[in-house]
Parts: sequence; structure tokens; C-alpha cells
Amino acid sequence: MILHGEIFSSYENWIRSRERLIFRNKDVLDSYQYFNLKRICSHFAIDYQTAPGLDYLPEPLFKDNAVTLRTSGSKSGTQRPYLFPTRYYSLIEQHHLWRFTHEHQIRHGAVVLLGYSNFDNNAHKLLEIKQRYASLGLNNDQWMWRYNRNITPSIMRDFLETLRVMKPRFLVCQPSQLDLIRYLVGDFEKLPFHLVSTGETLYPSTLEFAKRNFAGVIDKMRCWDGGLSFYTCRAERKHINDELCYVYHGSTGHVLSTDFYNTCTPFIKYANYDRGVIKEGLCDCGVYGRYFDSFEGGHATLVKAGSQFIDGGAIVSEITAFFNSRLHPDLQNTLIEKYGRFRIVSGIIFHVHQRADQSIDFTYQASHLLNEVEESMLKDMVSFVIFRTTANVPEVRINFNPNLWSEGLRGSRNKFQCIESEAL
Ligand SMILES: [Zn+2]
Repeated sequence: MILHGEIFSSYENWIRSRERLIFRNKDVLDSYQYFNLKRICSHFAIDYQTAPGLDYLPEPLFKDNAVTLRTSGSKSGTQRPYLFPTRYYSLIEQHHLWRFTHEHQIRHGAVVLLGYSNFDNNAHKLLEIKQRYASLGLNNDQWMWRYNRNITPSIMRDFLETLRVMKPRFLVCQPSQLDLIRYLVGDFEKLPFHLVSTGETLYPSTLEFAKRNFAGVIDKMRCWDGGLSFYTCRAERKHINDELCYVYHGSTGHVLSTDFYNTCTPFIKYANYDRGVIKEGLCDCGVYGRYFDSFEGGHATLVKAGSQFIDGGAIVSEITAFFNSRLHPDLQNTLIEKYGRFRIVSGIIFHVHQRADQSIDFTYQASHLLNEVEESMLKDMVSFVIFRTTANVPEVRINFNPNLWSEGLRGSRNKFQCIESEAL
């Protein structure tokens, strides 16, 4: 076992143990992964033969295998327990942070996150985060700048000036939030720290905007479901964290991963619906391993509602809250008034597309076609999430598309895509 408590005993031990997990050639990578695949399979009493090599694993597990896979996206973002051994959880979080800050030589300062708030009176404030965000490592000075749909160009400019004075270690946000800055402010005097993009696919136009306006850009992804994660190095390669999981292509093009360190839930050959082209080789940064030559996961874009703006991440989080029965109280009252006691529609994936007249196409895929009442509820919900009312709003069209995501794969609750809004 490479992970053990002693590594925290001194800074030098920590660094030494981390550096062992950066591979420089194929032999070291292969033997490390082979050893860990065998170990994790044996832990779950899964037959893993010594002879057939790395591709000999059981049938894939998909996110819909809810009985087998009990999981969540973070330690605190769910009502369900996160099934991951706590000491590994902290260690791996620290490792993620160390890996990309080490590569980009980022050492000092606070971390600032952007966070959309549903509750208008709470917004446009920089708040110290008392409860640490595990995904950014422990014992870090962390702040969240909270904003809401009433954001204006001058509020955004003030925020950027606050950051310029504060000089954080880096700013973390989702690509749709970068698009919000791009739309409201456009280019500005370059900020002297890095931008860390996470949570959604970082498409080229947004990436270029970030490069023009921040000292450096790191695209990173961390999926606790299955251990799949990557970060971009200074040579802009999307390095897969081979030390945490074994990642490769499934037969239909989606990415499969086997998590080496989740010993509570067997993420063996697990598909989280991301797609990508995986290659392997030595990078200019000195790391040997697998990397994404291209990658596509979830994506959400900025949407306009009258004179207000809602970034895609906020739409997704509100719609997901709807499926998790955590409704905005105003919406809950509207639905009860209209439908009496209702059952939440769940288990769907969706795309959102806004047309020039601000009307919305909401396209979903689910294991069954929604009935008339369910569809009407969904329409009200989408109207409310985007326009904050269900009356006199631009039209919302609900469409069913059985081939929305990953041909043949059945719906996963949190997958989404927003195609760029035509209303902006
Ligand atoms: Zn590299």
C-alpha cells in the first residue's frame, strides 16, 4: 500500500510520498496499475486472473446500477453518506490539490470560488468558507464570492477588482461562470493568478477568454464516482491521475474507470457517461501516463431571463434540486396549488437550449415517456428555474429524445447539456 498515515508526519515525507505517484515511464505505470487492479479486485472478491492483463475485468457498471453503486459527488453535497474511507478521502483530496499546484508552481494565497445563490438577499458578497471544501484540500484559506441572477456588469467589475487586490492563489469556477464574466465585462486587465476551471467541459472559446485574462489556466476534473480525474499541465495536456484509477475506453466510446482507493463501493469498470479520446505517452512536463486527447463531459451555458442572467451551472443545480425533492418554496407552493399532492419526476437527463426570443427547448431522456401531468409539471419547473415565475413567460417546450446521451445508455440523473444561448 502506498497510502498510509506516516506520510503526514512531516512535509518532506508528504512530498516524497507524492512524488512516488508521478510516473516517468511505462514500466512503472503498468506495474503500479497492475498491482492496484489486482488488489482492488481481490478486496471485492472479484476474479482477476494474473494472466490476461489489464483489460480482464468484469462487465461494466453504469451509474444506473443504483443498487450496487451508492455514491455522491462530494462529502457534504448530499443527504446520502459518501461511501469512501475517510482517511483516503482526505488524503486523495490533498493529493489532487498538490498535484496541480505543484505542476503550476502555485504556492501562496487563498482560494476563491464562485457560487450562485438562489436567495437574492444573500448575494454579491465575498464570504469566508468556514466549512472547508474538501475538493480544494484541507487547511486552506477559502472564500466564496456569491452572486445571483441580478448580477450587473459593474458588480462583476467590482468583484474582479477585489480579486486584484486580494491576489488569491487561484480562482475556481465553472466554464459557464467564466462565460458570465465574459458576457458582462469582456476582456479586462490580466489578473496575476491562475484560473482553475472545473465541473463542466471547458470549450475552446471559453478557454481562450480565460487565457487572455488570467496568469494561467488549469482545467481540472475530479469525479469521485470511479476515481476518474485529470488536470492540465503547463504543456496543456489533460493528464489522467493514473495513480488513483485505471481509465480506458468502453466499446461505445464512453470512458470507463476502476477506482483503486474506494474500498467501500466497487467502482470496477465504471462508466460515468463522460466521453473522450485517451492516449498514453511521455509529456514535455516529464510525466508518463494516460491523457485525454479530447474530453467531453457535462456542459451548461449562460441563459438570459429578461434582463437577468443565470449561468448554466445554476440552472443545472436548481433542476437537480427539483429532482432531489429540494424545491424552492415558491415553486413548491405553485405546484401544490396546481397539482395537489405530486410526485417528483426523477431519473432523467436533459439538454437546455435558449432561442433568440428567450424561449427554451428542454429536451430530456428518461426510462419512460413522461405523461401529460408530469410534462406540465416539468414545464412549470423549468419556467420557474429560469424565469422565476410560471406565468407570462417565454415559451418552454418539453421534448423527448431517446438518444440524448450515449446511445443505448439509460438515463443518469445528473447529466445535462446546454447548447449556447441564442438570446445573448
Ligand atoms: Zn504534461
